[in-house]
Amino acid sequence: MNTFGDSVHALRDGCFIENAIEIPVFRFLQFWATYRAHTRSGISKDMQRQLYYPRLRLFRKKSKSPHQTGAAKPCIYDISRPLSAKAPVWPGAKSFSLEWTKRFERDGVNESHLSFNLHTGTHIDAPFHFAADGARLEGISLDALIGKAQVLQYFGSGPIDVSFFEAAEIANDCRRLLLRTRNSLPQSSAIFDPNFVAVSSESAQWLVDRGIELIGIDGPSIQPFHDEDNRVHQVLLAAGVIVLEGLDLKDVEPAHYHLTALPLNIPEAEGAPVRAILVQEEAQ
Ligand SMILES: [Zn+2]
Repeated sequence: MNTFGDSVHALRDGCFIENAIEIPVFRFLQFWATYRAHTRSGISKDMQRQLYYPRLRLFRKKSKSPHQTGAAKPCIYDISRPLSAKAPVWPGAKSFSLEWTKRFERDGVNESHLSFNLHTGTHIDAPFHFAADGARLEGISLDALIGKAQVLQYFGSGPIDVSFFEAAEIANDCRRLLLRTRNSLPQSSAIFDPNFVAVSSESAQWLVDRGIELIGIDGPSIQPFHDEDNRVHQVLLAAGVIVLEGLDLKDVEPAHYHLTALPLNIPEAEGAPVRAILVQEEAQ
């Protein structure tokens, strides 16, 4: 009778076919357990009650997972470039290399060894990169690496001069700026292009005076390739401005976002790879 009743319910709920086998099996097990509960000693009244009134879950609707509830999902942009042997490196720098030291087929486990220049791909420069007594990674506070950021777009060939920043509508409370340039256009090869767009040394000083605490760019360096005296880096790093390089901003429109850019914890290093994301402000 119970099997018949359950089948009718299942038909009505439109889930008979997927439960056609489970219904009689469940009812048989229920009968068998009930029978055993009454014929064997040592089973508590509580347990007997549960066997009499089992919690049937067959026809219960699954609860909705959070992403099915209709709540708006924050739009997250991964603005980090993948680290691989395809990543272009600065002339003279060692290429990225991932060497397999153990393989599953041979050793029962996969393990690898990484070797690469810390300024490959998306990374942070610590002041020690361009100053003998500058702070290393351990001296950089995470505060500046998390928070509101504004993305500006620049279409020229660079270096980006002061007139661009003066004309740009930078928010009064803006402390983190990211520069989207033609550096973000997809590259057809892993060959390093020295004609990347960067920032002029006058602009570097302007950013310091403006109170910018973090400047990011989508090229391999914040300073032009042929900047022999490293003036741009020195001005920014000496003032404690965080420099993010090698961002990928191709999918990011100029607007306001929430930035999270966390470097690997390598205390003594002069830089480190960063996994950087932007979250659209209104979606938070
Ligand atoms: Zn760098």
